[in-house]
Amino acid sequence: MLDLLQSSKFIVVIAFVLLWVLERVFPAASDNALRLRHDFRNLTLGAINAGLSALLLASLLVFTAKWTATSQIGLLNKLSVSPLLSTLLAIILLDGWMYCWHRANHVVPFLWRFHRVHHSDLEMDASTAIRFHAGEIVMSGLLRVALIPMLGLSLKHLLLYDALLLPVILFHHSNVNLPERLDRWLRLLITTPALHRVHHSRRMIEANSNYGSIFSFWDRLWRTFQLRSDGSPVDFGVKGLDSESQQTIRGLLQVPFTNASSATTAWTPAAPVPAKSPRLR
Ligand SMILES: [Zn+2]
Ligand SMILES: [Zn+2]
Repeated sequence: MLDLLQSSKFIVVIAFVLLWVLERVFPAASDNALRLRHDFRNLTLGAINAGLSALLLASLLVFTAKWTATSQIGLLNKLSVSPLLSTLLAIILLDGWMYCWHRANHVVPFLWRFHRVHHSDLEMDASTAIRFHAGEIVMSGLLRVALIPMLGLSLKHLLLYDALLLPVILFHHSNVNLPERLDRWLRLLITTPALHRVHHSRRMIEANSNYGSIFSFWDRLWRTFQLRSDGSPVDFGVKGLDSESQQTIRGLLQVPFTNASSATTAWTPAAPVPAKSPRLR
């Protein structure tokens, strides 16, 4: 199990370094002089969240997974399927849960207050993948703990899912100029940069789409799949959260507790997006 955890950390570091280099060699949006400062801020938020998770959530998660395995409770423990099928089901169920959680973050105003920290990034690159408010990380971690006995998840399921999830979210946030043809093939299965850039648009009708974390089929299934077929660049950010003071580490930590009126009024309930209505500009 420790091997899986170590490999997962190793994969994340390798993926981040690789994407960081590719973003400089083949950038999608032109590089700007302040990108290092931007990356430093996002990495600091990521480090705060990693520390909080290790301190508050890790032992609770391990304890719950061990208790679930000993008690043999939850959906997957009740199904008589092979370990391989059980692992596949666990990955699909966890990703389905992530779709629901992400969508709830856009629909419930209280959750959006925290989630808009992720969306307020004015640039998008691999470092955006770890730019989350600590409040969102704690809430999502606690809900995941509750999910373990319900679904009958093991520690191996959780580690394996994260080992897949983390490189994919680093990838779909990256500022790499991926050939459209390659993106098109990849998005048949996973959420790609072309899809997730639309999700980071400051136009809420676009931001309320493409919620998928690993797999793109959730968005096709629930009709929240959306693309810009004309390839026009996406304007990233959240209306009302653009000022320099709101982009500092302290400012980002205060975002959920500020009543940035334009930011809250910019929010609109997530509406199903017709699967074949890509032309928005
Ligand atoms: Zn979102
Ligand atoms: Zn994102």
